[in-house]
Amino acid sequence: MVAKTMDELVSICKRRGFIFQSAELYGGLQGMYDFGPLGVELKNNLKKAWWQSMVYERDDVEGLDSSIVTHRTMLQMSGHEGTFSDPMKDCKECGHRMRADHIVDNKCDNCGSEDLTEEREFNLMFKTHIGALDDGSNLAYLRPETAQAIFGNFKNVVDSTAKTTPFGIAQIGKAFRNEITARNFIFRVREFEQMELEFFVKPGDDEKWHDYWLEQRLNWWEEQGVPKSKIHVLDVPADDLAHYSKKTYDLEYEYPHGIDEMEGIANRTDYDLGNHTKSQDELNITAKVHKNTQSTQKMALQDQETKEWYVPYVIEPSAGVERGMIAVLNEAYHVETLENGSERTVMKFKPHLAPIKAAVIPLKKNKPEIVEMCKTIKKDLQKLGLGRILYENTGNIGKAYRRHDEVGTPICITVDFETIEEEIPTVTVRDRDTMEQKRIPVSELKKYVMEYFI
Ligand SMILES: [Zn+2]
Repeated sequence: MVAKTMDELVSICKRRGFIFQSAELYGGLQGMYDFGPLGVELKNNLKKAWWQSMVYERDDVEGLDSSIVTHRTMLQMSGHEGTFSDPMKDCKECGHRMRADHIVDNKCDNCGSEDLTEEREFNLMFKTHIGALDDGSNLAYLRPETAQAIFGNFKNVVDSTAKTTPFGIAQIGKAFRNEITARNFIFRVREFEQMELEFFVKPGDDEKWHDYWLEQRLNWWEEQGVPKSKIHVLDVPADDLAHYSKKTYDLEYEYPHGIDEMEGIANRTDYDLGNHTKSQDELNITAKVHKNTQSTQKMALQDQETKEWYVPYVIEPSAGVERGMIAVLNEAYHVETLENGSERTVMKFKPHLAPIKAAVIPLKKNKPEIVEMCKTIKKDLQKLGLGRILYENTGNIGKAYRRHDEVGTPICITVDFETIEEEIPTVTVRDRDTMEQKRIPVSELKKYVMEYFI
């Protein structure tokens, strides 16, 4: 069972501290969100799982963390300054701005007026200025995708790691797009995070690797609790392809607001490396194929057997962190009717994604021996490095269980009178999904918790 509406998800996210509207205090900043105490944990865990799978579990991928403020020329060469725009129209009646391709019956979706401006292109990149001058000479952009700096560092990585095709460079980081209409909670936002891999292959091997990554990514999402049966693979029609793509698979998930893109896996060909190889004199040339024999060597690799130089093709799996979070939250969300007729809301996150791994709860909050034992257990478990272990002393065990079900804590550990009186102390361990409780010796707790998460 999943959330029926986005409102249901938004509500639990706010109530339990996953996600808040940015600058809510001052009426909210549209298209921006802040991640609360649980949201930051969930987000970090999702990114960690991606990095684990994309970098640590492979030996053909290296990591990168590049600057957000991006050299203007980089984004001119990549084609973003010229083409990264949406067509928009303004309503002359109320001033409302809309994406031209989203307008129904040529009417303003705010006031219904048919008095709209002509279509205009609106560039989606955020501008900024470097240094003190603000005269346009030092214009820079906040990156609209993390990919360009990967291409920009291609030679640095090749030279410093001795990698050759097939190999990849992975990056997780913020990107910014000044969307005309931000909407659907954290689905379409102006500041967001991407998890991008640029995987470099020999031309001709690109289609094989494209299909390989499609399979890999579907498997990964399933490991995060988003089943393949909920993901629709769209072979993006030629007319809708981005300016750099030969072929793209969109992984579309069944969101509460409808079926929509969660990740794109694009065959970017040699478009980017080719573009960054061109001289600045050619800036305004937007040819799709680059045969610049004079300077391709800058971004080219040499075939060890034939000694020929080639510009690698790029396969790019690019996932949105926030879009992934909604899918994970949606799949985790369960409302169950218990035997006694009451309802419980439970977030059935995969253990590695759970914001809180275990809660340690004293049965009586004012009993010093119990409290001390709880603190010791928390400290010991925290050292395992699994993520957050929470010592929670609210004094109401029933309420604590309900709260931890709702935030998806897999294990609750309760210390009671028996624990401190027994010769071999034991604690009660409660499982989030089955609600089963059992007693295990404190001395075996570390092992139990480790085995649960690994
Ligand atoms: Zn209007």
